[in-house]
Amino acid sequence: MLTDTLNIAVTKTEESRLATTDFDNLPFGRTFSDHMFIADYEGGEWKNFQIVPYGEIGLSPAISALHYGQAFFEGIKAYKHADGRIAIFRPEKNAERSNASAERLCMPQIPVEMYLQALSAIVEIDKDWVPSKEGHSLYIRPFMFATDPYLGVTPSETYKFIILTGPVGPYFSKNLKVKIETSFSRASDGGFGFAKAAGNYGGSMLPARRATEEGFDQLIWTDSREHAYIEELGAANIMFMIDGKVITPSTRDTILKGVTRDTVLTLAKSWGIEVEERRVSVAEILSAIKEGRITDAFGAGTAATIAHIAEIGHEGEVYTLPDPAKREFSNRVLQTLNAIRYGRAADEFNWNYFVG
Ligand SMILES: *Cc1c(COP(=O)(O)O)cnc(C)c1O
Repeated sequence: MLTDTLNIAVTKTEESRLATTDFDNLPFGRTFSDHMFIADYEGGEWKNFQIVPYGEIGLSPAISALHYGQAFFEGIKAYKHADGRIAIFRPEKNAERSNASAERLCMPQIPVEMYLQALSAIVEIDKDWVPSKEGHSLYIRPFMFATDPYLGVTPSETYKFIILTGPVGPYFSKNLKVKIETSFSRASDGGFGFAKAAGNYGGSMLPARRATEEGFDQLIWTDSREHAYIEELGAANIMFMIDGKVITPSTRDTILKGVTRDTVLTLAKSWGIEVEERRVSVAEILSAIKEGRITDAFGAGTAATIAHIAEIGHEGEVYTLPDPAKREFSNRVLQTLNAIRYGRAADEFNWNYFVG
């Protein structure tokens, strides 16, 4: 465990909302735990580490995050193990990715130690908010944004780093009908699709809404030049199993380096399954479907872990994939991961980061 060198000033809530929270009804992202962590970046350093009751914060309407989008976030989960201990799943990967996002957006780095201590402290203080039921977890949302009240288009000199948490129920991952997007793009070469930058998600809402209007649940993003190569599934990485091999787009500046992606690939390799990380063309996927060589297709991300793709639409045609309930690989991944995350199986890769 880390020694607490951050010196966090803690103000506890006078009235916990725990007793009035319905843990059987937890829509994603709407229920917040009692406290939040806040740190300020000023004069070239992180300071004012605080844990305070969750609530509104005062900000100038001129802050550059609101005007120019110097802002990014992360998504992490903590689980209550069978023995009552609480573990955050692979948080050091999110700390690393935060720093990659920060660098691309000209924002300050967060030392990994500071990140992990802040996460531990906020999860520890609200440990009673971590649900214990299978499929439930504590969702953790760290984010950073620029706070200079200045309308010049220039990197801010001050920032806030905040961590919110909230219990979430099981993600009922319905089997998805997805559309291969051939006109809009999420990210472009030289851009910042690899960063979890706030602006990437604002820009994806209109294409996603259009797809919904056409009867699809989600989009498969393709490369912005030719719309010929598959990149991601909504805000998740995408994977296929073709001829017994796991195939996924290699990471590049248009693709987010998902922690779940890395977790799934690590498990596959440990099971002796061949993994190919490379460019994946739309044509290759469509012919593999037609030839019956695809046995699995899914999105991988923290929210759902695995989101099965049941149907794929492309230029007016809809292709049906094998029955998700009978898919061996993705269902084995789900079961194995749950066993590791709730402490029922050995954690051979050291993915659990225990708190307290
Ligand atoms: C967050 C995210 C993912 C998944 O990353 P995880 O670390 O597995 O949660 C994939 N793609 C995009 C665009 C994302 O925003």
